[in-house]
Amino acid sequence: MTDTIELAGIRKCYGDFVAVDDLSLRVPAGGIYGLLGPNGAGKSTTLRMLMDIIAPDRGRILLFGRAREAADQDRIGYLPEERGLYQKMKVADHLLFLAELHGLGRSAARPRIAEWLERVGLADRAGARVEELSKGMQQKIQLVGTVLHEPEILVLDEPFAGLDPINQGLFKELLSEARDRGRTILFSTHVMEQAEKLCDRICLISGGRPVLDGELATIKRELQGNTFRLAADGDLDRLADVEGVESVVFGPEAGARTGARLILDPGATGADVLRRLVEFLDVREFASEEPDLETIFIKAVRDAS
Ligand code: ADP
Repeated sequence: MTDTIELAGIRKCYGDFVAVDDLSLRVPAGGIYGLLGPNGAGKSTTLRMLMDIIAPDRGRILLFGRAREAADQDRIGYLPEERGLYQKMKVADHLLFLAELHGLGRSAARPRIAEWLERVGLADRAGARVEELSKGMQQKIQLVGTVLHEPEILVLDEPFAGLDPINQGLFKELLSEARDRGRTILFSTHVMEQAEKLCDRICLISGGRPVLDGELATIKRELQGNTFRLAADGDLDRLADVEGVESVVFGPEAGARTGARLILDPGATGADVLRRLVEFLDVREFASEEPDLETIFIKAVRDAS
C-alpha cells in the first residue's frame, strides 16, 4: 500500500548550519506517527518542509504517493509550533474563518463548531474574543481549527506543549479517536512520555539525523529481555564499566543515585551481570522490564554517535 507521507533524503540548511540531514521517513496510512527528538533536533523544520512552508535543499517529499498538489491543503490539518490566532476575533467566527480556508461551507461548519466547542469544554466561550482566553484555551481552539474540515492527515507540531495534564489527556483522547476513524497523524514532541502510549510508529531524530525508526512495539520487543531496572546503594557510577552492560540510563532525579536502567550487551544474561553487580553494590532490586522510550532514545543516540 502507498504510504500517506514519504520523505526521502531530505536536507535543509540555514546558512552553513545543517538543521536536517538525509532524513527519510515513511508514514503509512492510518495510525499515529511520532517524530521525536530533543529541542533543536530538526522536528519543526521537517514538518515545515512537509507543509511546503519552506523548501528542502535536497530530497523528495511525497503525499499519497505523488508530489504535493494545491488541493492537498484541504486534506491536511496543520498545527504549527508557533500558535497564532487573530486575538480580536470572536472564537466561533475565527473557527468559521479557518473552516472556510479549508473549503468547508458555513452551513456545514456551524454545527461542527458547536459540537467541537462542546467537546473541548469551551461552548460558553463561542462569543468571546480570542484574547479573553487563556493560552491553553487558545491552543484548544487552534486544534479544533485544525480538525474541523475532517482532514485525512493531521500534522501537529508539539501539540501538547503548554497544556495542563487534563488537557494533555483530552488531546491524547482526540488523537486516538482520529486514529480510530482511520486518520493519519504525524506529530512531533520532545517529551518521550507523551509519545510512549500514543504512537504506533516513531522516528527518533537527533542533530537533524534519524537515529531510529519503525514500529514502536517491534523496537521495544527487540530490546525486551535486554533491559533491567536496578535499585541499589553504592557507587553506581561504576555501572558503565561492568562487563555485559552496554548502556546505563539514570533517572532525571537529582542527588545521590540509587537506581538506573541497564541495557545489556546482546550476548549477556541478567544472571551474569547481577553476579558482577553484587560484588560492589547493595542490590535491592534487579528485574527485567520493557524499555521505555526515554531509555530507547538515549541508547539510540549513543549508538549513532
Ligand atoms: P525542533 O523542532 O526539533 O526543536 P527546529 O527544527 O526548530 O528543531 O530547529 C532545528 C535547528 O535549526 C535548531 O538548531 C534551530 O536553531 C535551527 N533553526 C530553525 N529555524 C531556523 C531559522 N529560521 N534560521 C536559522 N536557524 C534555524
